[in-house]
Amino acid sequence: MPNTPIDLHTHSAVSDGTETPTQLIRSAARAGLGTVAITDHDSTAGWQEAIAAASVSGINVIPGMELSTNYGPASVHVLAYLFDPLNRTIVTETARIRDGRLRRAERIVEKISQDYDLTWDDVLAESSDGTTLGRPHIADALVRKGHVVNRSAAFESILHWQGGYYEKYYAPSPLEGVKMIVAAGGVPVLAHPAAHGKYRQLTGSVIKSLADEGLFGLEVNHRDNSPEGREFLLELCAKYGLEATGASDYHGVGKPNQLAENTTEPEVLDKIIARATGSKPFFAAA
Ligand code: AMP
Ligand code: FE
Ligand code: FE
Ligand code: ZN
Repeated sequence: MPNTPIDLHTHSAVSDGTETPTQLIRSAARAGLGTVAITDHDSTAGWQEAIAAASVSGINVIPGMELSTNYGPASVHVLAYLFDPLNRTIVTETARIRDGRLRRAERIVEKISQDYDLTWDDVLAESSDGTTLGRPHIADALVRKGHVVNRSAAFESILHWQGGYYEKYYAPSPLEGVKMIVAAGGVPVLAHPAAHGKYRQLTGSVIKSLADEGLFGLEVNHRDNSPEGREFLLELCAKYGLEATGASDYHGVGKPNQLAENTTEPEVLDKIIARATGSKPFFAAA
């Protein structure tokens, strides 16, 4: 039985979290977590450092990722646990997504710079080499330049998808994403599927088609899912034999989400571990 409490969705500075993987693990230990998954966007670059830090902090780590996919106009996130990080499709596809994100961020900055004092170098200064770039890094640059007070304010104005500067980036479909994760020995879980009315697009029949390809579960307990959305997701879990997970989606100081604010039952994590064949969880010595 894995150590509890269990938080299966967190970000480090490998993507848009504000803490290094080492700092993230220390924060997880301080928050009293027994098990934490590191799930950076489209990257496994934080796994090794997180595991090294966990052996010092004495907590368990589930290596994971949050894969970007596109479903029509909607960006759909698929959490992936315990897949083979060297799987060829995963390696090439995540590299393509990260590259697409980089060029998309340049296009957004190009547009913003026509109205605000902001340069591409300002954004690069908010990330390091190899970071999965996203709007949060542009937000940080806007904060540093004094255009907005924090990331949330940036997302509510300049970086809002209807704010006039939004650009899309390449990502596979959710179905392709699920297939790719399963083929790499991993376990896919749909992230915050009822956030911002998304469940209106991700209908029951879409989720059934993902379940038919090996989707394991739905992240039901996430702060962005509405109460009605959670009810709907629980019905889908019962109908299609999916498991319900819960997690914080912690981003350090980049978002209000706090570690352990939502958690996953140990029985559910046991099933994830039993199903996965791509890589092993890290268990700290008891
Ligand atoms: P992107 O993937 O570049 O389109 O940016 C979306 C990312 O920004 C998501 O992964 C969120 O974690 C983050 N994000 C979305 N809304 C907010 C917010 N209000 N404050 C901080 N970060 C946010
Ligand atoms: Fe994020
Ligand atoms: Fe997400
Ligand atoms: Zn996330």
